[in-house]
Amino acid sequence: MDNQNKQDQKEKLPGENIPKKSPGGSLGYWIYLIFIFFILFSIFNKPGTNAREISWLEFEQNMLSEGDVAKIVVVNKEVAEIFIKEEKLGNPKYQDLSKTVVPSGVGPHYMLHIGSVDSFESKMDQAQKDFPQEERVEIKYENRTNWLRDFAWLLPLVLIFLFWMFLLRGFTKGGGMGGSMFNFGKSTAKLMDNTTKSSVTFKDVAGLREAKIEVEEIVNFLKNPEEYTRLGAKIPKGILLVGPTGTGKTLLAKAVAGEAEVPFFSLSGSEFVEMFVGVGASRVRDLFKKAKEIAPSIVFIDEIDAVGRTRSKANSFQANDERENTLNQLLTEMDGFGPNTGVIVLAATNRADILDKALLRPGRFDRHIYLELPDKKEREEIFEVHLRPLKLSEEVDVDQLASLSPGFSGADIANICNEAALIAARKKKDKIEQTDFMEARDRVVGGLERKSKIISPKEKEIIAHHEAGHAIVSWYLKNVDSLVKVSIIPRGKSLGSAWYLPEEHQIISKSKFLDQICASLGGRAAEEIIFNEVSSGALDDLEKVTKQAYSMVAYYGLGDEVGPMSFYDSTGENERLLGKPYSENMAEKIDKEVQLLITNAYERTKKLLLEHKAELESLGKLLLKKEVVYLEDLESVLGKRLSKI
Ligand code: ADP
Ligand code: ZN
Repeated sequence: MDNQNKQDQKEKLPGENIPKKSPGGSLGYWIYLIFIFFILFSIFNKPGTNAREISWLEFEQNMLSEGDVAKIVVVNKEVAEIFIKEEKLGNPKYQDLSKTVVPSGVGPHYMLHIGSVDSFESKMDQAQKDFPQEERVEIKYENRTNWLRDFAWLLPLVLIFLFWMFLLRGFTKGGGMGGSMFNFGKSTAKLMDNTTKSSVTFKDVAGLREAKIEVEEIVNFLKNPEEYTRLGAKIPKGILLVGPTGTGKTLLAKAVAGEAEVPFFSLSGSEFVEMFVGVGASRVRDLFKKAKEIAPSIVFIDEIDAVGRTRSKANSFQANDERENTLNQLLTEMDGFGPNTGVIVLAATNRADILDKALLRPGRFDRHIYLELPDKKEREEIFEVHLRPLKLSEEVDVDQLASLSPGFSGADIANICNEAALIAARKKKDKIEQTDFMEARDRVVGGLERKSKIISPKEKEIIAHHEAGHAIVSWYLKNVDSLVKVSIIPRGKSLGSAWYLPEEHQIISKSKFLDQICASLGGRAAEEIIFNEVSSGALDDLEKVTKQAYSMVAYYGLGDEVGPMSFYDSTGENERLLGKPYSENMAEKIDKEVQLLITNAYERTKKLLLEHKAELESLGKLLLKKEVVYLEDLESVLGKRLSKI
């Protein structure tokens, strides 16, 4: 029931809080207005809409032969508009016209579809052959643009376009990327220029000695490029920062920009990959365009693995196409600018192994800087950086803080310092004390203490013995880290926890793996021994154990049956394949081996606990009484721990 949750706390950039103007709203209105105008225009602009359509016969017999027609206008060789003489309009047969035709009565009053101009003319000639020359009706020809007809094909397009925009707006709003419907293809990179530049310098970056030396060269280049170009040297265009989260990759990139006093574009790889095809690529293009315009500048791409994963050959889904387009565009851009343009691309990832090889070729991200979790000395330095702005009491011991936070990243340490200040403030202290830091540390690792959580006495008893089980097994197995304290105060989502002081190792031996598995199983085994019953309380432990055993067998080649084989895939390609990279037969072997490994470890754990059953019971009692026991208490019950690693 011990858990480790790390929090990745990001520092806010000063440029990030500036609210963006969104021109999207008014543009959207314009489009709707144009659309409505279009529709209204097409309705009202129909030529002769209010003229009644009549047949040739009606026209000839009732109007033409009566001499009522003033003139005829043939429009577009299709329709004849008929104008009735003004004086004839009083005639009862034209009564209905007054309702439909424009009040002035100018007309046209009727319209007639003619077959063709030729036949219409001959029909007219025929009908008027008895008329004297001056009474013949004049025929005019006109060409008018019929907006509706000529642009009707546009209408569906406009509709589709509007619908599309509507969708996009929804998405961009939801995605919170500025919300404009037209700049979704624009880069969302945040620019920090000299004026809004955060004053991050190398002083704010503690530890990371080698990395700093590497990036100092870049700063030098950005400051005086001539020094290098004079000798014909090429400065790398792309630098990859590789390391676990919170080790200060972003911080380092910012510090480079701060030291060199150049504009700094930062954006995360996942922002490139959007729903819409082509968006990622156009964002890349836009980003580099901006960066080149104000070169020298630094482009920082966080989480580059989101775009830079190996392009797969065996990709059965279309879903990754967009990512590949984006990656290709990124490669093109990086090839496209000369080595001395003054744009330097820094990218961060925690997995360099899954990156596409094309990204790592010369001229692209050919330089790699590895950042690792800080060692004790470096942790001390990082503490010092973050303690600088705090009001500390005299007795705060940085050395102790550093040694009690193994495996912590820079971000964790920053988090502890901030938490400690909050805790001290809550207690209305004038200065932050060492205990505040210890409390903050526990809280960062294990979550909030929840003393008010209601736990029945019976449950409390189970939890106490469960934790005592972990403690005793760890005490007697020589490959388990030393215990610092055991607590049954609920914290975060766990009900109790055993706190260890992890040693810093690069490799783990098989016996250490096995001992760790036993220690994790100690809780469950203790429940079984003391209460003759097991509970759901071992979920976290069992999950951890199972994962560990699988990685032992399938990844590290530590299983006897499977032998020295590893199905680990450092390229990340298999992740996308359906199924496993081994046969059913092998899967069965692995499952069996894992199961055997865990059951054996469980038996061993139970045996060990049975040998120390008396101690288990008394430690359980002590825990029930004190809730938290420290090393001294453990030693009073169990004696000195003999086997140190
Ligand atoms: P990453 O990008 O590697 O995930 P960040 O650069 O975002 O990590 O680190 C987060 C925060 O942790 C930083 O803003 C800083 O406060 C702190 N931090 C990390 N590493 C260091 C370091 N070496 N020195 C000082 N502070 C650090
Ligand atoms: Zn447990």
